[in-house]
Amino acid sequence: MGLMRSLLLAGSESRWLRAQATRRVFVRRAVSRFMPGETLEDALGTAPAMERDGIGLVLTRLGESVTDLGEADAVAAHYLDALERIRAGGINAEISVKPTKLGLDIDPQRCLAHVRALAARAAALRNFVWIDMEQSRYVDATLDLTRRVRAEHANVGVCLQAYLFRTAQDVERLLPTGAGVRLVKGAYREPAEIAFPRKSDVDGRYLTLARRLLADDARRAGVRAVFGTHDTRLLRAIADETSALGRPPRDAEFHLLYGIQRGEQQRLARAGHRVRVLVSYGSYWFPWYMRRLAERPANVLFVARSLFRS
Ligand SMILES: Cc1cc2nc3c(=O)[nH]c(=O)nc-3n(C[C@H](O)[C@H](O)[C@H](O)COP(=O)(O)OP(=O)(O)OC[C@H]3O[C@@H](n4cnc5c(N)ncnc54)[C@H](O)[C@@H]3O)c2cc1C
Repeated sequence: MGLMRSLLLAGSESRWLRAQATRRVFVRRAVSRFMPGETLEDALGTAPAMERDGIGLVLTRLGESVTDLGEADAVAAHYLDALERIRAGGINAEISVKPTKLGLDIDPQRCLAHVRALAARAAALRNFVWIDMEQSRYVDATLDLTRRVRAEHANVGVCLQAYLFRTAQDVERLLPTGAGVRLVKGAYREPAEIAFPRKSDVDGRYLTLARRLLADDARRAGVRAVFGTHDTRLLRAIADETSALGRPPRDAEFHLLYGIQRGEQQRLARAGHRVRVLVSYGSYWFPWYMRRLAERPANVLFVARSLFRS
């Protein structure tokens, strides 16, 4: 792992840095590149422009680690409300939730109840719930949560991280269930005993897993294969693989982050792929923003430039 990436990921966990950064106008200005605003309205406000390009949304609220169940309940209530507002506005948007924000750490049963309630409401509104994947210590619990909710509601998908060695097996276990799978490279700091430290290995594994998710048996099982990446080489390889398999472009679905590779988002949608942009909002953006910087240390230059403009 590069030194800059390690420093940024370590920084993402620092309370002191968070307190400093969130007070600085220049940091907030730099963050706006990746986040339209702190409220649900700000996030929903991006829909018309995206829709003009044939692109849907996935909404996720950035939140602090919850320390009591009342906070987890409030997060669940927020997403239930978001589902209603999406429906009322006729907006093409799904939601993506972090299990720890719904209480996974403190009361897994309550977390399960929350995700079930969200999936049930989303099913009634013909919507879909994505479950984010967090640090490796949560993978088993997150997959178990997904399996249990999916036993009752099919409109649920989970994120898997290509950097983890175990993910190849997790894919094999999930495929026959026909789950939605959003494949990403992985955003956290993980030890070399369980995750590929080298980017080239992660990229290679990503493509192998992507091919597996596109295979005929996955399609027959009803898998919704989603590729969450901005890596143009991978985006093109996956599109090529789809057409080599004789499948229409819409069989390959891509989710990218708001503000990253906008041209590529439009190009993919024009080519007939299903495309969504994940829009984050909320006041607790610092650790999330540091992970975005770690993904592309050149972004630190944007922050530095903003500093000199302020
Ligand atoms: C829809 C979606 C959902 C995600 N959900 C999760 C999750 O639940 N759990 C998890 O661990 N991770 C998640 N991630 C993050 C993911 O793991 C990666 O950290 C992130 O996508 C960067 O990897 P990449 O595939 O874009 O490839 P990279 O190799 O990192 O980037 C490829 C190229 O994309 C561009 N790019 C990438 N990141 C940036 C950036 N921040 N700013 C500007 N340009 C950039 C650059 O041109 C770069 O060269 C998600 C990502 C997406 C898109």
